[in-house]
Amino acid sequence: MSSCLFCQLVSGDIPANKVYEDDHVLAFHDIRPQAPVHILIIPKRHIESAQAVKPEDRETLGYLHSVIPVIAEDAGVAEDGYRLVANIGRHGQQTVPHLHYHLLGGRQLGWPPG
Ligand code: C5P
Repeated sequence: MSSCLFCQLVSGDIPANKVYEDDHVLAFHDIRPQAPVHILIIPKRHIESAQAVKPEDRETLGYLHSVIPVIAEDAGVAEDGYRLVANIGRHGQQTVPHLHYHLLGGRQLGWPPG
């Protein structure tokens, strides 16, 4: 079994509350939601963080971005807007070392983040 938590969600070893899945991308509800809509969107293939992205990941991540509007539409936040966040490393407070985008919405969000 992979030691990566999100790889275990991808393989089904750990259950996820999925909202979208295809061959390359998985999206699921965050277990500790910080907004009425809080979805995590990940590439199925393990990439440690946005800082670890390599040229060979371009197609995967371009594709991932192309399904974000579909996920946002299905979640009901496309019209009013939402935020995409990728935390990176220690100062970014990344806790799971598998690249993921937080999609946050369903309320007016503040800026700047803490
Ligand atoms: O950006 P960061 O790495 O901190 O985000 C990880 C996110 O994964 C957290 O928001 C956490 O609530 C979520 N999580 C989850 N399911 C798990 C473990 C963590 O949704 N089993």
